[in-house]
Amino acid sequence: MAWPLEPGIGFAFSSRDLHVREVRTLHAWTIPFRVWLPMLLTPNFHLEEFTRTATGLPNVPNRAELAALQALATNVLQPLRDSIGKPVYITSGFRSAAVNRAVGGVAGSQHRSGQAADIQVEGMSSMALARRIVTLQLPFDQLIEEFGEWVHVSHAPQPRRQQLTAVRRAGRTRYLHGLR
Ligand SMILES: [Zn+2]
Repeated sequence: MAWPLEPGIGFAFSSRDLHVREVRTLHAWTIPFRVWLPMLLTPNFHLEEFTRTATGLPNVPNRAELAALQALATNVLQPLRDSIGKPVYITSGFRSAAVNRAVGGVAGSQHRSGQAADIQVEGMSSMALARRIVTLQLPFDQLIEEFGEWVHVSHAPQPRRQQLTAVRRAGRTRYLHGLR
């Protein structure tokens, strides 16, 4: 039997997950099936870069979370990438409630809402990366240089432009004001 793809087919974006395309035939025996599409948020950032997780748990942003990721990529990450001229790697982006619990993230984490990403750039220290974000006057909400390893950066409608440095002291994480 031929695969029921033919003119007249209905394409609809799911209202819940914008990047999941539902394809339905117009036949009585409708077959809904879902296809993951690479969704480009900006010229250099794909949605997949923000949602991959080693936990194996579902990590699909809803409409509001997707909009937050889009705003983060558009207002902070893409301008940063354009300035550096090298790939900006996202080591942790969006976290569903399940993923956030699994990785020990705090409940109010901006990763949870799609507003934050942890990033690294090859050949650039995390402090130099954080300072570049400040120098470029990007509309970041919170910027944390973490343990000399990566940069946590978030975007919010009313950016606080808070700058912190995370250090480990006696086995605990402390957040120092400013980039040190
Ligand atoms: Zn983070």
